[in-house]
Amino acid sequence: MLSRRISISSWNQIWRALLVLTLSSIGLSVIITITILEMTMTGEPGATISEHEVWVNAIAYSILIPGIVCPVIVYMLLVTLRELNLARAELDAVANGDPLTGLLNRRGFDAAGAGLIAQAGSRHQPVCALMCDIDSFKQVNDTHGHDCGDIAIRHVASIVKTVMEAVPNASVGRQGGDEFAVLVTGLSSRELAHYAEIIRQSVQSNPIAWNEDTIPLTVSLGTSMSAGGEDTTVRVLLSRADRALYEAKLRGKNRVEAAAQAETA
Ligand code: GH3
Ligand code: MG
Repeated sequence: MLSRRISISSWNQIWRALLVLTLSSIGLSVIITITILEMTMTGEPGATISEHEVWVNAIAYSILIPGIVCPVIVYMLLVTLRELNLARAELDAVANGDPLTGLLNRRGFDAAGAGLIAQAGSRHQPVCALMCDIDSFKQVNDTHGHDCGDIAIRHVASIVKTVMEAVPNASVGRQGGDEFAVLVTGLSSRELAHYAEIIRQSVQSNPIAWNEDTIPLTVSLGTSMSAGGEDTTVRVLLSRADRALYEAKLRGKNRVEAAAQAETA
C-alpha cells in the first residue's frame, strides 16, 4: 500500500534517513553515557557490580535504546506520511475530477490542458480542441428522468474517453452539464476531424438501454486548432471550438464543424 504512494527514490531516501538517524542517535547516546559515567563513577570498593560491568551495560543500553526507538519513530512517521498521501490524493480527485463521469472537471482540465499547450509550444506542435455536446439532452431528462440523463452523460463520457485514449497527449474533461472537451497535441486538422467523426458515429450507433426502452443519442461537435508555436490558452481554443459547436447545432445537430480557417491560423 505504502509503496504505491511513495516512489522508489523516496524509499531510498527514507531508508537512508532511518540509517543516519539511528546511527547518529546511537553515537550521541554513547557519547552522553560515557561522559556521564566518567563524571559520576567513583569506583567504590564495596560495589556489587564491577566498574567494567557498569561500562558494558551502560554502553549496551545506549546502543539498544536508540536502536529500537528510532525505527519505531520512523515507522510512525511513515504511517502518518501514508495517510497524508492518501488524503492528498483524495483532495486532488475531489478538486480536479468530475464525480459523475470520472473525467477531469473544468479545473483539472484547465491544468492538464495548460501542461499540454506548454509541451506543444516547446515542440512547435499545433494544439487541437474539441467540444462535444449531447443533442436535445433536456428531452432525455424530461422524458426518462434525471437518473437516465446521468447514465446518458456517463455513456457519452465513456465514448469520448475511449476514442481519445487511442491518441497520445490527449486530455478529456467534462465542462459541465452535457458538454465535454478534449485538448490534444500533434494531430493534423484531418486527423482531428477524423476523431471527432468517430465520436459522433459511436454515440449515434450505441443507444443506451433504460428499463424497457432503447434511447438513441446523438452529439454535435466543434473543433479548433492553434498553429504550431502560436501563443494560446485552453480557454481561447475551447471558445473557438465552442463557436464551431454552436454552428453544428444551428446546422441541424448530429454533425461536426471545424472553426473557420481564419480563426485557426
Ligand atoms: P442542445 O441540443 O441545443 O444541446 O439542447 P439540450 O436540450 O441538450 O440543451 P442543453 O445542452 O442546454 O441541456 C443541458 C441540460 O443538461 C440542462 C440540465 O438540466 C441538464 N443537466 C446538467 N447537468 C446534468 C446532470 O449532471 N445530470 C443530468 N441528468 N442532467 C444534467
Ligand atoms: Mg446539449
